[in-house]
Amino acid sequence: MDYRGRYAPSPTGLLHFGSLVAAVGSWLCARHAGGRWLLRMEDIDPPREVPGSAAAILAALPAFGLAADEPALHQSQRGTAYDAALARLLELDAVFPCWCSRSELAALGPHRDGRCASQPDPNREPAWRLRTPDIEIAFDDALQGPQRQNLRETAGDFVIRRVEGLYSYQLACVVDDAHQGITEVVRGCDLLDSTPRQIYLQHLLDLPRPRYRHLPLALDAQGRKLSKSTQALPVDPADPLPALRHALDFLGQPSPADAGDAQEMLAGALLRFDPERIPQRSGCFVI
Ligand code: GLU
Repeated sequence: MDYRGRYAPSPTGLLHFGSLVAAVGSWLCARHAGGRWLLRMEDIDPPREVPGSAAAILAALPAFGLAADEPALHQSQRGTAYDAALARLLELDAVFPCWCSRSELAALGPHRDGRCASQPDPNREPAWRLRTPDIEIAFDDALQGPQRQNLRETAGDFVIRRVEGLYSYQLACVVDDAHQGITEVVRGCDLLDSTPRQIYLQHLLDLPRPRYRHLPLALDAQGRKLSKSTQALPVDPADPLPALRHALDFLGQPSPADAGDAQEMLAGALLRFDPERIPQRSGCFVI
């Protein structure tokens, strides 16, 4: 099967070092396999969106030599596909409506028994939760090795569609990985524990399961994940080489010393790219 990889940023801020690592890592894996590299803007959560950041991320990537092979897919345009997936889950009786308030949820802890702990309220829209079975989901991560998770214990009956009508990351990700024909998901290790939920959704929706390769996470000096929402310093598209070199180094890959621009640096790195050299563990990147 032809390799199709992707980079799927959320528009919650400017591109920073941690997101550049995921972008470069997924690009290298795709190109190394002779495959295609796609983009997906995960703009399904307007309350968390930072205005202008989707456009800024899409504009920054080519400055780092990262050009996608197809136009970016925007999740904000994909409501019909998510509606269809929810309808299928309803048909399968795999979801249930939930009217619990925040305070009820805080008092009760995660739902685990396949039904709402509160009373139906015909005047309010419910959230929709997936009934999680008491099963172990196992998969073999290409970098982190064999993984197992008891879905009910760890994830509980997780939300598929929120009260406000917004779809969850888990559902949208699974529907769109299938829609984009993704064969390998390369992303940060912070999403390793989301993967069993996604695999279970693929199973229910009869979608193919891609391979997974979870990259080490860039941490700040305090050991916290660098993220757009914790105000990690953005990388500078006007001066891409230093950040690109750091990202390659973080991924255990040598970078050419004499590259004149970002494309040359990536092309040189690709020639010597070896996925076996990517370190498993998260590292520290002092900002
Ligand atoms: N949108 C997610 C993020 O920016 C990544 C999702 C994924 O790669 O599956 O953290």
